[in-house]
Amino acid sequence: MRQITAGMVLITLALQGADTAGALRGYSQRAAAAEIEWEKKFRAIPQQNRLREYMQRLSARPHHIGSPYDKDNAEGILAELKSWGLDAKIEVFDTLFPTPLERSLEMLEPATYKAKLEEPSLPEDPTSGQKSEQLPTYNAYSIDGDVTGPIVYVNYGTPADYERLQRMGVSVSGAIVLARYGESWRGIKPKLAAEHGAIACLIYSDPHDDGYLRGDKFPKGPMRPSFGAQRGSVMDMPVYPGDPQTPGIGATPDAKKIPLNEVTTLSKIPVMPISYEDAEPFLQNLGGDVVPAAWRGNLPLTYHVGPGPAKAHLHLKFSWDRKPLYNVIARIPGSRYPDEWVIRGNHHDAWVNGAGDPVSGASAELEEARALAELRKQGWKPERTIIYCFWDGEEPGLLGSTEWAETHAAELKQHAVAYINSDGNGRGLFRAEGSHSLENFVNSVMKDVDDPETKMTVWKRRRLTDISRAAADKRGEIRARPDLRIPALGSGSDYTVFIDHLGIASLNVGYTGEDEGGGQYHSIYDDFYYYTHFMDTDFAYGRMLAETAGTMMMRLADAEVLPFQFTGLADTIHTYITELKKLATDQRAEIKERNAEIEDGTFAALMNPKQKMVPPAKEPVPPYINFAPLDNAADDLSRAAEGYETALLASGDRAPASLNARLIQSERLLTNAEGLPNRPWFQHLIYAPGFYTGYGVKTIPGVREAIEQKRPAEIEEQIVRVAKALKGEADLLDAATQELAATNRLPKR
Ligand SMILES: [Zn+2]
Repeated sequence: MRQITAGMVLITLALQGADTAGALRGYSQRAAAAEIEWEKKFRAIPQQNRLREYMQRLSARPHHIGSPYDKDNAEGILAELKSWGLDAKIEVFDTLFPTPLERSLEMLEPATYKAKLEEPSLPEDPTSGQKSEQLPTYNAYSIDGDVTGPIVYVNYGTPADYERLQRMGVSVSGAIVLARYGESWRGIKPKLAAEHGAIACLIYSDPHDDGYLRGDKFPKGPMRPSFGAQRGSVMDMPVYPGDPQTPGIGATPDAKKIPLNEVTTLSKIPVMPISYEDAEPFLQNLGGDVVPAAWRGNLPLTYHVGPGPAKAHLHLKFSWDRKPLYNVIARIPGSRYPDEWVIRGNHHDAWVNGAGDPVSGASAELEEARALAELRKQGWKPERTIIYCFWDGEEPGLLGSTEWAETHAAELKQHAVAYINSDGNGRGLFRAEGSHSLENFVNSVMKDVDDPETKMTVWKRRRLTDISRAAADKRGEIRARPDLRIPALGSGSDYTVFIDHLGIASLNVGYTGEDEGGGQYHSIYDDFYYYTHFMDTDFAYGRMLAETAGTMMMRLADAEVLPFQFTGLADTIHTYITELKKLATDQRAEIKERNAEIEDGTFAALMNPKQKMVPPAKEPVPPYINFAPLDNAADDLSRAAEGYETALLASGDRAPASLNARLIQSERLLTNAEGLPNRPWFQHLIYAPGFYTGYGVKTIPGVREAIEQKRPAEIEEQIVRVAKALKGEADLLDAATQELAATNRLPKR
């Protein structure tokens, strides 16, 4: 009777979305009560003034990989962790990290202009003057080059933008493209430009996207000034991240390195970021058609496409050195299940001073580690091993996390329960993206932490905001569903190797949305002055991040049964399959319609004879797709997930600990060792960064990208592969259910 009652309490609470007081998934009632007490004690420890001190220390000087202060910071973090009694060490790797030797950009025709390529120091902002230690504005992993050609403006440089250019009869072949930042990840812009025959790519920050259109310019306000430029990596990370010379293996001293000329993740053409002050003279000297309305930026000029007459000369030369990187790793041994690891990470390296990105997150992580160390002194002992990681080399290409995880891949596959990542943090709403087996878990933690400004729970605030912002037909679902949905992970921070390569259930968390910032991303002005004037100025949300992520770590580390929940995962997979079917149906209808219009001569009728517009070419209509294997496997997963849920609730406090060994493998089963088509490093079959979006996620990527990229021969093979993985997941849950049922038949403890 008691078992059933416990189950009913859980269901009722979940449906009402009420606080979880007294009932925690994976905990017996007695254990839950103790856990809740410890978590409350933990959340009372983090202090805002300490977060401010860490930030001041870590962002005091530029600290990119290979710089003196990067090493200094790693040693500083290590010393702090040790001073709190934690077992910590630095793990060193060496990786390829190019830095500029020569950079020049000039306009040769029809006027002359020499680009400044310089972010000036500002008297208000003390660290902006640390010139000798700052990396210049550049895109890491651009190849060397010396090229001259006409400029073509390509808007954001996305696949749709190139389709439009083709319709306008404009080719970028032999040209230097000028793209603006935004929409796609920056590395996609030179990748697509090269595929279309361009010889170089310039990327500028238009005031429309993070400049004066959005708010006052720095230092009066938070937005990017006229001479501000965005550094950043253009490594082809959708192929594989990490050290370009050691794909798939850790960059240890004895690792076999592939020669530079065989590396596939460098850009194919030279690429450089510029400010809008440097872009404006080129834009002013473009002829050709006026751009489509959606392509207009916010500079005071009429945007034309070109090509030319503006003609540019770009010269780039880099030093192709390998640099040491310093990951700081701290371990709190598990008292009961030392071989089950719960892992937390945030990077410590920055492009320049990096107060926002990443120090705001790294400071919170550091305070979280201190609070857990403090809690241990009060008598708390985590059941599982907890690992805190401070990564180096995230900015150039997720180097530190990737090399560490590749080095320890075998142990991680066996022992890792979950990975929780954060990066730059701001003010506002809590956001979490990640594995859907952790969706319910994330919701449970969100219900136990209070927003510092509105005083309501973080969960309630997020839910009410989501409802108010949702489309009319989506509101009902948010109100009815016990858990808020979490988005899937793409790429763009250190979780990538954990989820996409190793199949470790992962989350990326942080607070965002109400800070005024974003405009200093990867500039010399993302520093202590900027952060304390425009971002989370009193560190209230930094403390919240420490409290929230720390609670997650504790709750995962102490659970008797790992708190994965699979009905939410199954439900999410059904929504992805529905999306895929719609994608295929819409694409087929669009191609049919366009082919008909081409035959009817519609494009000739619509065309303004004075504009040169090229009608599109007819395309083969894609065949119908058999989604049945995917439908059947997803239904099977739903059934198995519900069965497990029922058995778990019925087990009350008697779930066997051996269950956890199975559950740890649950995310691993969603991977395939052969990886995705053309990119074997990416092994997760449900989540991957898009090949042509970069950071943006593609769910069920093997199938989705085969449809989008019109490779029909691949689709059904990919469907079968995903279906097989889902079936494997269902089998694991069935085995777990049987194990629970056997326990439930035993006499009560
Ligand atoms: Zn970052």
